[in-house]
Amino acid sequence: MSDRHHGKVKIHQMKPCGEAEDEEPGSSPSDPTPGPGSSDLPTLRRRSRSKPDPDAGSGRGPAGKNLNSPGCEQTLEVKGTGKVPHGKSETNGNYVAVQEGRSILEPRCQEGLRKRRAVTVDTSKAKTSLEALKLSIKQLKWKEFPLGRRAPCDIYWHGVSFHDNEHIVSGQVNKFPGMVEMLRKINLSRAMRTMQQLFPEEYDFYPRSWILPEEYQQFSAQIRLGKENETTLTPTFIVKPDGGSQGDGIYLIRDPSDLKLMVGSQAKQAVVQEYIPKPLLIDKLKFDIRLYVLIRSLEPLEIYIAKEGLTRFCTEPYQEPSQKNLSHVFMHLTNYSLNVHSGNFVHSDSQSTGSKRTLSSVLYRLAAKGVDIKRVWSDIIALVIKTVIAVVPELKVYYQADIPPGKPGPTCFQVLGFDILLMKNLKPVLLEVNSNPSMRIEHEQEVAPGVFEYVPSPVDEEVKVGVIRDTLRLMDPFNKKPALVSQLKPGGFEAEEIPVNPESQSRSPDEMGNLPSLCLKQVYPKYTKQFNYLRLVERIAALFIRFLGVKGNMRLGPTAFRTFIRTCKLSSSSFSMASVDILYIDITRRWSCAVPDSREAGMGPQAFIEAFFYLAGRRFKSLALREQVAALLSLCESQLGPPLSAEDRRSLSCSRALLRPIRTQTLCPPHPQLGSPASQRRAASHQRLKPRTLRANVEN
Ligand code: ADP
Repeated sequence: MSDRHHGKVKIHQMKPCGEAEDEEPGSSPSDPTPGPGSSDLPTLRRRSRSKPDPDAGSGRGPAGKNLNSPGCEQTLEVKGTGKVPHGKSETNGNYVAVQEGRSILEPRCQEGLRKRRAVTVDTSKAKTSLEALKLSIKQLKWKEFPLGRRAPCDIYWHGVSFHDNEHIVSGQVNKFPGMVEMLRKINLSRAMRTMQQLFPEEYDFYPRSWILPEEYQQFSAQIRLGKENETTLTPTFIVKPDGGSQGDGIYLIRDPSDLKLMVGSQAKQAVVQEYIPKPLLIDKLKFDIRLYVLIRSLEPLEIYIAKEGLTRFCTEPYQEPSQKNLSHVFMHLTNYSLNVHSGNFVHSDSQSTGSKRTLSSVLYRLAAKGVDIKRVWSDIIALVIKTVIAVVPELKVYYQADIPPGKPGPTCFQVLGFDILLMKNLKPVLLEVNSNPSMRIEHEQEVAPGVFEYVPSPVDEEVKVGVIRDTLRLMDPFNKKPALVSQLKPGGFEAEEIPVNPESQSRSPDEMGNLPSLCLKQVYPKYTKQFNYLRLVERIAALFIRFLGVKGNMRLGPTAFRTFIRTCKLSSSSFSMASVDILYIDITRRWSCAVPDSREAGMGPQAFIEAFFYLAGRRFKSLALREQVAALLSLCESQLGPPLSAEDRRSLSCSRALLRPIRTQTLCPPHPQLGSPASQRRAASHQRLKPRTLRANVEN
């Protein structure tokens, strides 16, 4: 929350909300908790909370065998290595899951043996998610370590980034390394543009964007051209500072000359984007959707979407942009953090009125008006899957740099906040993705003129506690099971379950302590067949990772690039190794100007993708870009043999010489005082991130 909006701010430390409710009996720790791979029922009805949920993990394995039931084998099975006896924790003598490397093994049998120990959660770095997290842990009857713990925990909940706690070698962290960097506005725009180049129709849900200052000329030229061709329509653009949040520094323009390009003597890094002039309105107000999305795993990719989200409303009736109203932030920007300071902001305990409402209440209202919300929900799911597919390639590069195969480290998962606008024609548009969506369950209220307090927000609590609790349920280390893939044929895609409930029933445990059905629904790999063809860039990233030389590095040196060309047999009489060097220098230089504060020399993943597109164009001139890239990928992969699986990489990485015979020669040696490339990058990224970005869990 920005202090600039009000003079005096009084912040009360809130007592955890809903404690009385929490004291009611929860589920037994040995209760089977849900796992992924649910089979959704094609229904519009909301299911009763007290009924057993077919989605909620039955503890059944893929073959339908209940892994938790008495009578199963009294052993733990080590994947691929046979069976070993149960382990006992050295510190507390409790039943533990044995870990080998980073894969957590599954207890094959719990009931009938002894009561499983409670899952442990380190909440010492949870920051503003703490209240919602505490409630969730309490509902699950897990064990919280608010001051951290000397012995490893099963789960570490971080408020800002993967690095909030350093030196975690096991368990699971709720952040991926590199996610903050990846989702900054410029990086997200670049990733989306790469996908738009390959799949223009599939990625038309992201508004046309230009990166400043680098693309100022292209932006100006396009606008001039647009004006010449279309004299009646004056388009509007929205300018967003890179790394900004909560609407900070955002402004609308209608002419490139209105851009504020400099801060002092420095060029401002920003994204300028086509402004959507005709959003869908409710009660004459513009609103946007905050959707919570869980990336449960990168390899294999597993994505879950929360059926319940929030909608944030503007506080001034909407008018299409005109020169006169461009500065009316309460009309054009839906940010909660801005609108809460408008005199018109309505705090409401009801989920279907006020300036912040549940998504289901809005969908219900639209359904009542005859809107095909099944279509809308399917489009939203498709938007989410496509966006995740766009960011995963670079994320994998970050991941291997921070947790190289073979190095002990935690596994990661992350809840992201997708901001989505519905256009008047009901098409969803992606505004941005937040790596740290606010999990606050209190909101600021002006209790006297100029005096603000945090008071409980039932709408936030309802939605956010559900998201955190169900994320934890899915990450329960004792209930891992493989995700199921939908049997639907490729092509047609329709979501099977739609979140519509007028005034959603409480998602807290009932009187018997039974947890409600999972609010997180798996969408990937469930819909793999419909979206897998989009995962081309990930294959380019896999090549990039394969040729990276130095452990923890994210940049390809010139020698490694040459080795890539040679190994994949991409040079020829018309494309000599000298041309390869020129290509490397040309692209690397351009990208080092585009990312001027990067301390690592060499070719980054985005530059490599550009080089790959170029090589594909040279080699397969007659094809369209997508086919060119696919053909070059097949060629490279056939030269290299089958891609290494995560397991292969892990076992090979104990001898890194085996995996990577190529030593990278970087253009500039790393700074001696900065240590490993990963730690340099961390230092650089912390320097790069403005204080606002580093703040935990901003509410938009
Ligand atoms: P921030 O991270 O600062 O919140 P956003 O990208 O979410 O930045 O933009 C802030 C607000 O501006 C959004 O919540 C939305 O209301 C509005 N907005 C952003 N992009 C567009 C766009 N392309 N068209 C229309 N409105 C937009």
